[in-house]
Amino acid sequence: MELTAQTLELKLTEPFRIARSVQYYAHNVLTQIEADGIVGIGEAAPSGFYGEKRESVLMALSYFADHLGDDPLLIEDVMAGLDRVMQGNAAAKAAIDMALYDLVGKRLGVPIYQLLGLNPARTPHTSFTIGMDTPVEMAKRALVAREYPILKIKLGGKHDLDIVKAIRDVTDAVIRVDANAAWTPKEAIRKIAALEPYDIEFIEQPLPPKDLAGLRLVRENVGLPIIVDESCVTLEDIPLILGCADGINIKLMKCGGISHALKMIHAARAHSLRVMLGCMIESSVAITAAAQLSPLVDYADLDGMLLVDDDPFDGVQVKGGKLMLPDRPGLGIRRRDGKRKLLPQEVEAAPAALPARATSREKRAHRNAQGEPEYEE
Ligand code: MG
Repeated sequence: MELTAQTLELKLTEPFRIARSVQYYAHNVLTQIEADGIVGIGEAAPSGFYGEKRESVLMALSYFADHLGDDPLLIEDVMAGLDRVMQGNAAAKAAIDMALYDLVGKRLGVPIYQLLGLNPARTPHTSFTIGMDTPVEMAKRALVAREYPILKIKLGGKHDLDIVKAIRDVTDAVIRVDANAAWTPKEAIRKIAALEPYDIEFIEQPLPPKDLAGLRLVRENVGLPIIVDESCVTLEDIPLILGCADGINIKLMKCGGISHALKMIHAARAHSLRVMLGCMIESSVAITAAAQLSPLVDYADLDGMLLVDDDPFDGVQVKGGKLMLPDRPGLGIRRRDGKRKLLPQEVEAAPAALPARATSREKRAHRNAQGEPEYEE
């Protein structure tokens, strides 16, 4: 099998703020694997929070290229082999894993969901994410996003309750809250109690990832379900969070791809955990890969491609929030410009303009940034 890679720079429609960071661009990597004249495509969206960046992905991919073997049908063997030769690098592994699934689906002439025996009618609705801002700005964005029946609200600052009040005032949408590890246990118990009257579906990652005792305490003292994201990265984390959460947020970029995510879904079900599929800021390549698994899960937060201006690809569609899987073989990805070759030509990224009201922290991040602020959706 032959692997090639190139960078993919995605520009956010507007700066994406969460409790610990702000992001203007996603510095992703596309990869292509060819075997017997068939090409599969994959994408890595590295997160500094999990110790990856674009350069490490490119290095990992060039190393993994020599360890793929020659049979793309042996996806489990290939991925186990990559785990043996190098630990971590989950986003780089996810790119290879989804490219292999794409290739195998194309070779067999079936979409990946069919390969997995899944019913495309069972895809959930995805949430649409509203990044942190002032209560007024976030309520405005909730109005703009009125076509989406589920909103995911980023909290973890001084105005958490005011934000939820302002958004609830303008919408009847289902509201999910993601604090991105920003609260203390006491603060979480107090804030979640105050949020309960606003009809919130669940709270995602209220506490720092390692504070499992705190999570257990919060869960025992609040009336809303707790979903963990940063606390549950790989399969091995699932036994550790039992009793601390009601569900987990699985991301291909955290766990290493479709084959690992499948194992996590089934392990979570064995422990009666709810399952959510999430994403980073990704193009339609990686989002469509995750969406192929979505008939298996309770909640989807697969809106990464909706938050960027310049997604070069076309794959899963979102209609009134519902994920609509393409019925083409493999991932079902096409270039938006209609060209057949999957990898677009590499384009030098133009320096980004800063918004007029950028904070000093954002200016710092921007200066620093060819842009490697830590980010995480
Ligand atoms: Mg999250």
